[in-house]
Amino acid sequence: MTATSVKMTEKGLQVPNEVIVPYIEGDGIGPDIWKASKRVITTALKQAYGSERTIAWQEILAGEKAFNATGEWLPTETVTAIKEHLVALKGPLTTPIGGGIRSLNVALRQQLDLYVCLRPVTYMAGVPSPLKKPENTDIVVFRENTEDIYAGIEFDVNTPENHKLRDFLINELAVKTIRFPDTAAFAVKPVSEEGSERLIRAAIDYALAHKRPSVTLIHKGNIMKFTEGGFKRWGYELAEREYGDVVFTWPQYEAIQAAEGFEAAEKALSDASSAGKLIVKDIITDNFLQQIVLRPEQFDVVATMNLNGDYVSDALAAQVGGIGLSPGANINYLTGHAIFEATHGTAPTFANQDRANPSAMLLSAVMLLEHLGWNEAATLILNALESTISQQIVTEDLAQLIDVTAVSTSAFADALEAAI
Ligand code: NAD
Repeated sequence: MTATSVKMTEKGLQVPNEVIVPYIEGDGIGPDIWKASKRVITTALKQAYGSERTIAWQEILAGEKAFNATGEWLPTETVTAIKEHLVALKGPLTTPIGGGIRSLNVALRQQLDLYVCLRPVTYMAGVPSPLKKPENTDIVVFRENTEDIYAGIEFDVNTPENHKLRDFLINELAVKTIRFPDTAAFAVKPVSEEGSERLIRAAIDYALAHKRPSVTLIHKGNIMKFTEGGFKRWGYELAEREYGDVVFTWPQYEAIQAAEGFEAAEKALSDASSAGKLIVKDIITDNFLQQIVLRPEQFDVVATMNLNGDYVSDALAAQVGGIGLSPGANINYLTGHAIFEATHGTAPTFANQDRANPSAMLLSAVMLLEHLGWNEAATLILNALESTISQQIVTEDLAQLIDVTAVSTSAFADALEAAI
């Protein structure tokens, strides 16, 4: 048998039994956490499938390692390999200072049009958390990855471009609300119907496939009526148009309330829930950030724009133990391209000391395995992580929070392998 690539067909992803998966080792703690992760993944695959399903890992270069070897931070071959093999696992990368590329992660997302940033936030027993009941947080974040204020349309204050934009706003569009026009820098926030729809569609599809009871649209549409407000409106229109009777939306609730009263609307909502319909609702971002601390159990799948998504993902991550345990994926559901990555950075002070926590990278590998449909191996890794951490066998980052003796990265990996 020779290893081949994942393919996207009309029927969805086709995954061969011996699959090529490119990986980027990553900078800083990357090599340590990759080494630990690789052997745990291999053990899980063997335990789940014997020799029937295997991964042929193919190293591709990015970051410092790429720069030292090729003089480029993100070589063309790396992007080409991910384009060809569709999926990749990625370690953290040093952000180059100067030199044209703002962020390698943003460059990869843009070049492959990875429009969904998927961040599942689930509590794992034994992990220290600031909440009394951290297990009530079980939320999957769909963050839009290609638009919004992240589009990079921003001008420095004393540049001709900035002056031109300012003058255009004042002279052509009669804008009168710029408080300090001479010292203001300007940025543009594109939020489109197409971009919002493809993100919200992915969130609804995910919620239906995973039998989650609701999708919540998070936005600041009360202030930004056409961008963030547009996101909300387009989301509701899409839900009602494309998903019909499978969903029950908040505007439908409000329409029933206006016509027949509160009790009728409550009954319709309760009937819809009992019938297994997906409830599509919305919330203003600041209220969401309050509610996740007070009553996180109200939320299941959430969909939001780029900047809100950034804040919301890290706030949620903190509730269940912080970024050392947060996996993520950047996905284009239409082409099948997906990069799975730990959300933390390179933690340079821990580099090459066998001290870093490999859990976020392993949880990203769990997402990769689930994406491939190899759920048995994914579950083995997840269970091993849970049982090992709940026995307080943990690396330094968690050990200092629960006041136990830390184990090294490789000893943590040994414990995981033993638990599989
Ligand atoms: P960081 O995530 O590297 O570190 C923040 C803190 O968390 C540090 O105290 C660090 O020691 C700790 N930490 C992070 N991951 C850990 C792990 N797995 N085990 C134990 N402790 C861990 O963030 P930073 O210091 O702001 O950034 C360092 C570098 O990483 C920068 O070059 C930055 O641009 C880059 N970065 C890359 C990514 C990515 O590639 N996805 C994400 C964020 C930052």
